[in-house]
Amino acid sequence: MRSRKTFHRHRKAHSTHRLWLYVTFLTAIIFVIFTVAQVNVEAPPSSTLSSNNPLNSEKSDEIEQKKHPDQADSVNKGVRSISYTSQDHRKASSSPTEEERQQAEQMERTYFGTEKRAELALSSSWTLMPQTVHPGDVILVRSQQEDHIDWQGKTYPLKPFGTGFYTYLPVPIGIEPGKYTIGTQTLTIEEKVFETDYLQVTEKQESILQDTEQIQKDQKKIDEARNHSAAEFLFPADSPFMQPMEGRVTTPFGFTRYVNGKYSGSHRAIDWAAPEGTPVRATNDGVVALADYLHLTGYSVYIDHGMDLYSQYIHMSKLLVETGDSVKKGDVIGLVGSTGFSTGPHLHFTFWAHNVPVNPNLFLNTTPFHWLDDKRDETIMDEKRNLEE
Ligand SMILES: [Zn+2]
Repeated sequence: MRSRKTFHRHRKAHSTHRLWLYVTFLTAIIFVIFTVAQVNVEAPPSSTLSSNNPLNSEKSDEIEQKKHPDQADSVNKGVRSISYTSQDHRKASSSPTEEERQQAEQMERTYFGTEKRAELALSSSWTLMPQTVHPGDVILVRSQQEDHIDWQGKTYPLKPFGTGFYTYLPVPIGIEPGKYTIGTQTLTIEEKVFETDYLQVTEKQESILQDTEQIQKDQKKIDEARNHSAAEFLFPADSPFMQPMEGRVTTPFGFTRYVNGKYSGSHRAIDWAAPEGTPVRATNDGVVALADYLHLTGYSVYIDHGMDLYSQYIHMSKLLVETGDSVKKGDVIGLVGSTGFSTGPHLHFTFWAHNVPVNPNLFLNTTPFHWLDDKRDETIMDEKRNLEE
């Protein structure tokens, strides 16, 4: 009996073992079927991006800004982006050869200035240049996929350049500091305190501000001019933006301004005072989008640098370029003056990204591609590490 019992127990143990083998085998088969099925399913499109703060207290500048027609009201609907993979993109356009792709990548890499920066940007699904900013700044965004960004009540489509997709994103001067999600990255907006500037002008000067009909006519002209930006970066890879003239800064970027005691918005430009007739130079290569006399800003020039970035030069005494001219960095485009709403000879200089005036200091002696901080951007590094694992 004893031995039989042992035998039975043995058999029982044996059959349990066989059952286990069956179960393991079946599990393995199911696993393989599942894996194959998943590989065949197309990867889902990248996630929809949206800003998480609807606050936008954009204040009027010397020129009132209008909504870009391209950025119409497809806003904050939480629409899923229609992004297709770069493979689909290749199918849609004439498919480039591997050699062409390599050339495009090489061209794109040169814009970053260093191998490290280029590597960081190209190996990450999303890159913010830079990742930490202040109200009134602007960032350059790169994505590996065609996509769009819903940001501060507007939609910004990314445009192809090299092997990536790019857009500038203006950071409104009235934005709430904090952390914002863009793609797979986090944009940190740090607080900044702007000083206040009290400007006294004569009644005659103040009356310039009252001609709203003329101001609106001019605004139409400006909107039209700023609606045809080149769909590429017009400045060369190794070409930092230059200060357009030498002079003493009289009003820095961001000052809150009162004219004769009345609040008149933020000064979203740099003013340099200089003797009348001082040459004003193009900050970088581009195409003159508008060179004209405007009621509020006098002799004015807007230069398109591509991808919806324009530099602006106003209050000049003379224009030396015409609308449509191609200009090189350093070309003299006009002379310092005091035309329009101005209290003395000076240049009011700024950049407009997607029709929002942004901090011009960020551009001087550098380019937006160099805003990528290759020492600080740990999030990008982390993402890269995850991909490698
Ligand atoms: Zn100014």
